[in-house]
Amino acid sequence: MGNNKYKILIVEDDSSIAGFVQTVLETGGYQVLTAGRCGQGLLVFTSHTPDLVVLDLGLPDMDGAEFIRRVRRDSAVPIIVLSARSDEIDKVAALDAGANDYITKPFGTAELLARIRAALRISRAPDRAGCFQADGLVIDYDRRQVSVEGRPVHLTQTEYNILSLLSLHTGKVMTYASIIRSIWGSLDDGSVKKLQVNMANIRKKLGCRPGDNRYVVNELGVGYRMLDE
Ligand code: CA
Repeated sequence: MGNNKYKILIVEDDSSIAGFVQTVLETGGYQVLTAGRCGQGLLVFTSHTPDLVVLDLGLPDMDGAEFIRRVRRDSAVPIIVLSARSDEIDKVAALDAGANDYITKPFGTAELLARIRAALRISRAPDRAGCFQADGLVIDYDRRQVSVEGRPVHLTQTEYNILSLLSLHTGKVMTYASIIRSIWGSLDDGSVKKLQVNMANIRKKLGCRPGDNRYVVNELGVGYRMLDE
């Protein structure tokens, strides 16, 4: 090809949506590959090793989560899922299978490009071992210490574990279930509530007002996403 454009694979069976996404991405300076089925998508993925995948969840030949699991066997490529509002359960399954982010249809050009830029930026970020920093927030993993604009923040063990887990997956939506399994080991009836209470305390201690999405975005009914800037 002789160029250094990012290559993006779109797997979408609806040709009008695929065409829209392709036009937006090509105008945005990306090289685009398309597939209308998961099987074809896997073949194109293997032969062209794209830098990012945009995956529709409603494809006729394979469950989206299964596609993601197959890609994840040997690739950490960012995967952004396109879902309809009615696909709530599938969306969570896709995130748990390793998707990085999702966009709900219908979506606009600016939103699509912003999500893609964020996912590519994160996949290129150097290893953050040592410290995490974003917008005045610093997490020192060796000392297990957190500060905001130089001011120490005193978190409980559990609160620290949740915040550091989210920071290690910055930009990725982590589902309630995946966070709970990492922090407490198993899911029970009260665990989502327990997580929400801990998150509310973390946000308060970081100085966030109610409804303020600084540092951590609450993806309602799905999970949490740590911001990288
Ligand atoms: Ca579809």
